[in-house]
Amino acid sequence: MSYKLLDGKDLAARMKKTMSKEVEKLAAEAIVPGLAVVIAGNDPASRIYVNMKKKDCEEVGIKSFEYALPEETSEEELLGLIDALNQDSAIDGILVQLPLPEHLDEAKVIRRISPDKDVDAFHPFNVGELMIGRPIFAPCTPAGVMELLKDANIDVAGKNCVIAGRSNIVGKPMAMLMLHDNATVTICHSQTRDLKAVCKEADILISAIGRADFITDDYVKEGAIIIDVGINRNAEGKVTGDVDFPKVSKKAFAITPVPGGVGPMTRAMLLKNTIKACNMHNKK
Ligand code: NAP
Repeated sequence: MSYKLLDGKDLAARMKKTMSKEVEKLAAEAIVPGLAVVIAGNDPASRIYVNMKKKDCEEVGIKSFEYALPEETSEEELLGLIDALNQDSAIDGILVQLPLPEHLDEAKVIRRISPDKDVDAFHPFNVGELMIGRPIFAPCTPAGVMELLKDANIDVAGKNCVIAGRSNIVGKPMAMLMLHDNATVTICHSQTRDLKAVCKEADILISAIGRADFITDDYVKEGAIIIDVGINRNAEGKVTGDVDFPKVSKKAFAITPVPGGVGPMTRAMLLKNTIKACNMHNKK
């Protein structure tokens, strides 16, 4: 069976072009969207993510402001910075790169971000708005998946959607977005009995469990749509998703690659949320 590749890299590039034009229009009115990126400590993966986000901002004309704090930063200092960013009119979005060093309380830090600048949509206010179906900002990874499906003309309404993983940043918000678009949703996790059988019922299978090549072809129904959110390193150190692509793609109607699938979409949605925040702050 030949499959359709859901190419997130290509869609993200197209979205960035559109967003650049939007930002140009704002610039003509002397408005520049601003994103504050806060990183604490020396986690190498976090540093890579922050650098990529800064580069993305540059590409579309969003001004990024980096706040790199030492590992030993106190909670008081970090909360003080967030208070200042909440007040700063040059800042439309605030992103705190996770994970934070262990002595810092992530939940407390996220709650301190003003919900109208919470472009990651992790603040309980935005989580609640998503739950009741009127999000200001949708969390970037699940929102990116929805864009990818929409772009491929895949209507989720009435489809059986199985999500493997129930994290607050991927699995749960993914389920809400799917539900709001009228999919029938099942959420699985490490305690799910017979995960294979549940996944095999899926018209759309979304894997966000974080285990390299875990989803093999015997988890997949013929003709299913497969979204691989996972980012892992396999035994050879190569970046790979949760899905065994060579095997699963033989059965799939459509499938995302890793890399080049959901990852670039997550980054594009952060830019989209920042521009949305800027428009909101300037009453557009
Ligand atoms: P997480 O917080 O570690 O959650 C993993 C989820 O998978 C948990 O709900 C866990 O169940 C479930 N799980 C683990 N092993 C399982 C198993 N054998 N069977 C069924 N469920 C299992 O991870 P996350 O932050 O959601 O991230 C998931 C993956 O997506 C990671 O690889 C991460 O790097 C990647 N990711 C990618 C993007 C992107 O832009 N592409 C963005 C975010 C995350 P329990 O709840 O029962 O423990």
